[in-house]
Amino acid sequence: MGERPAILWLRRDLRLADHPALTAACASGRAVIPLFILDDQVETLGAAAKWRLGQGISSLSQAIEEKGSHLILRRGAAADVLTRLIAETGAAAVYWSRLYDPAARARDGAIEADLKARGLEVGTFPGALLFEPGMVQTGTGGFYRVFTPYWKSVRDRRVDPLVPAPARIPAPASWPASDRLDDWALGAALRRGAAVLPRYTEAGEAAALARLDVFLAGAIADYQAERDYPARAATSGLSEALAIGEIAPHRIWHAAQHARERGAGDGAETFLKELVWREFAYHLMVHTPHILTRNWREEWDSFPWNEDAQDLRVIAWTRGRTGVPFVDAAMRELYVTGRMHNRARMVVASYLTKHLLTHWRIGMEWFADCLTDWDPASNAMGWQWCAGSGPDAAPYFRIFNPETQRKTYDPQGAYVQAWVAEGQRNPPQGALDYFDAVPLSWRLAPSDLYPAPVVGLAEGRQRALAAYESYRSES
Ligand code: FAD
Repeated sequence: MGERPAILWLRRDLRLADHPALTAACASGRAVIPLFILDDQVETLGAAAKWRLGQGISSLSQAIEEKGSHLILRRGAAADVLTRLIAETGAAAVYWSRLYDPAARARDGAIEADLKARGLEVGTFPGALLFEPGMVQTGTGGFYRVFTPYWKSVRDRRVDPLVPAPARIPAPASWPASDRLDDWALGAALRRGAAVLPRYTEAGEAAALARLDVFLAGAIADYQAERDYPARAATSGLSEALAIGEIAPHRIWHAAQHARERGAGDGAETFLKELVWREFAYHLMVHTPHILTRNWREEWDSFPWNEDAQDLRVIAWTRGRTGVPFVDAAMRELYVTGRMHNRARMVVASYLTKHLLTHWRIGMEWFADCLTDWDPASNAMGWQWCAGSGPDAAPYFRIFNPETQRKTYDPQGAYVQAWVAEGQRNPPQGALDYFDAVPLSWRLAPSDLYPAPVVGLAEGRQRALAAYESYRSES
């Protein structure tokens, strides 16, 4: 065992299997000090994502204990925390899994340069993605702006093999001090929702692996036909585990490939493709980071969006009180569970940006606050795709009619019934949970009358088309 330990700085890679940085740390011959830092990038996460991260940290901490090690928790600027921990422990190396959003890249790049300048070994590893964003290029050396050619270029690429969790994580002779996770109060911003959300979440690597197994044993076969129906348990539900790295995309990829070979055919193929949408989102974020904050297509800057998040109709949207049942069911599912079905995400995003002519950034930020599967790249790409301002986007004039969507994808009304209590004699628990989760100041009760539509669907559609036509003729 080398005398000076290695610090393994964990961030959004809260697992032990398929973890190249952990594998390298364990193989380095050094003792390993696993570390999680509550820095400003974690501090400023949305309420639900921050709570969910806390669940993931708690679960990982237990798993690390079982490997004869400890997860050290420290709070402060990452560079300062690392400097102090290196001084305390005499660590000679710092390893981490790479992140790809601009803020993390800026922080990590500065830290890497500083540590190296001080003679420390720094190891940065893949693990969050199947394909490193910079390694996928068009024939002319550029990046892909459209999904289908991106998919074609990666679908037959080699994906890293699976790596088991280490049997033991080599421990240092003595442990540095650690904060207590409870003292971080990562769920504080959820307020009343903190009592409800745990009913809908199973955190940790073991739970993610179990969820994958359940999906492979059943729903994957019918994934292509069923995945658009929000009331059916037809998708994997793995997004929140992927978002904080409780499972590696590699494991899902290899498992789905295996299922395809065993006969899950079209379902497995479509599922692999969806998994690659996540890769595509990262590819876009790395090559065009402005996708996170500004219209990806700059010509959209002159579009007359409503930018007032306090607009009463926008507030009605956030609260699931638009009077459009499919939209309201989806917004309540989000508030109660921290997730929303993909079809429903598209419908509520279209409704906000088109029927309510509201800037996608307002919707994106609401999702960032409410989603337990919040992912910077997928959230931004999803919103810009729906709004029409993004790459490979749905054309603006293609406006989802939420009523038609409801009739097609919720033909028996099961989704709306599951989440909208008003008007039901015996509402199901999920619909009632909404009233336990929302702030009391919203003054909502299941016995309320269901609201009238805040905008007529035909009127909203006409207004959106008119705004689009005048913007096009002016630009
Ligand atoms: P499955 O259908 O089982 O798919 C498997 C995995 O593939 C998912 O877990 C996810 O990682 C990936 N995937 C599937 N569809 C997409 C997609 N359209 N874009 C990117 N990746 C995809 N996904 C997030 O993980 N975080 C977000 O913050 C997020 N915000 C979104 C916002 C909008 C407006 C829209 C339209 C979509 C957003 N998505 C986001 C994508 C998608 O809705 C979710 O990934 C999906 O609903 C998760 O459910 P699942 O795990 O059961 O997916």
